[in-house]
Amino acid sequence: MNMFEPVCRSCGTVHPVEAVYACRKCGGSLDIRYDYERIFADYPFAELISSSGWDMWNYRPLLPILPEAQAITLGEGGTPLLRSRNIQDLAGLPRLYLKLESVNPTLAFKDRPLSVALTAAMQFGMQEVVCASTGNTGVAAAAYAARAGLRCTVYVPASTPMEKLGAMKEYGAELQPIAGSFSDALETAMEQAVLRNAFNLTSTYLNPYAIEGNKTVAYELLAQLGRVPDWIVVPIGAGPLLSGIYKGFQEMKRSGFVDRLPRMVGVQADGCAPIAEAYRSGAKEVLPWRSAVATAASGIADPLISYPADGSRTLSVIRESGGIALSIPDDRLLHYRKQLAMREGVLAELSSVTAVAAVQNMLQDGVLRNEDTVIAIVTGHGFKDMSVQ
Ligand SMILES: *Cc1c(COP(=O)(O)O)cnc(C)c1O
Ligand SMILES: [Zn+2]
Repeated sequence: MNMFEPVCRSCGTVHPVEAVYACRKCGGSLDIRYDYERIFADYPFAELISSSGWDMWNYRPLLPILPEAQAITLGEGGTPLLRSRNIQDLAGLPRLYLKLESVNPTLAFKDRPLSVALTAAMQFGMQEVVCASTGNTGVAAAAYAARAGLRCTVYVPASTPMEKLGAMKEYGAELQPIAGSFSDALETAMEQAVLRNAFNLTSTYLNPYAIEGNKTVAYELLAQLGRVPDWIVVPIGAGPLLSGIYKGFQEMKRSGFVDRLPRMVGVQADGCAPIAEAYRSGAKEVLPWRSAVATAASGIADPLISYPADGSRTLSVIRESGGIALSIPDDRLLHYRKQLAMREGVLAELSSVTAVAAVQNMLQDGVLRNEDTVIAIVTGHGFKDMSVQ
């Protein structure tokens, strides 16, 4: 018997370990459920954390990968946790840390889910992979597909920065520009995955295997800090990174390794903020973003058209954790990108800067106490969109 299985979050139907993206009974979104008792009997968390040695794949017992599969890896994970010291607006918060996902092999956190996804593609014997991407998923998919020796096609919306397009091409992926937003690209990727019998790596909640890679951020944070932070501030598109980090902490709590959970904060840009909007209005369900997408933070510009339930899934995690969702105007992103670079030596992609700007909002509004330990996830490197000013 496998140690894990895809389960429908709506109706509980269990699915076989194969390429599956939604519940075959009700269409609901899937989550991977583990046999934690058996896993923790052999691999208690203390042991996993002390033996990780900064290799994400040492957490393999908690990834949805069969024992015989060979990991497709480029050395992702094990990223630095830096204390923020010099940004004056944030000086009231001595325990603010930056988790530098920007130093992964393709300069964004997407390397974690894509490493797991390409390993899953190989374990399922797929010959080909496709994805829709606002940029970073496509770059990571192209790199890990190159490593795995699989053909890769990426469907990209018109707004994708040239740095990302250039990298995808260099890794040997085929690019298909799509007129419209990320949501249009996703629709095409879903059709093409079926037509070509390709594994769909799109990093919404679509691929239940990929998301699990995000949990490893939580394990690392605990190893690096030695305790559970009070708040984790995450730039979100549909929100799988935020949900994955929370799931990682839930696993550690369930195993008795920690006794509390962090509050999760989801941050969007004002110009495309369906989840923040639903949070503000007190709604339970997220609605698709109907206005034009108007932000330079292309990495999180996901209007959720035709899959707003993904946003609702993220919103429910935020609420369950006691966190909040908010959005940031673009002019403040440019300001804090510069502050991060000049005062901390950290060059961040515009989408990532939303997390730092959000910390300032929360400090000003009295949401944060000065003694709180706060993590801002720097999801991507500034080299990914330096042409955007
Ligand atoms: C993908 C991405 C995000 C959003 O992550 P989701 O898991 O899709 O919500 C944030 N920042 C950057 C730089 C990204 O590439
Ligand atoms: Zn179902």
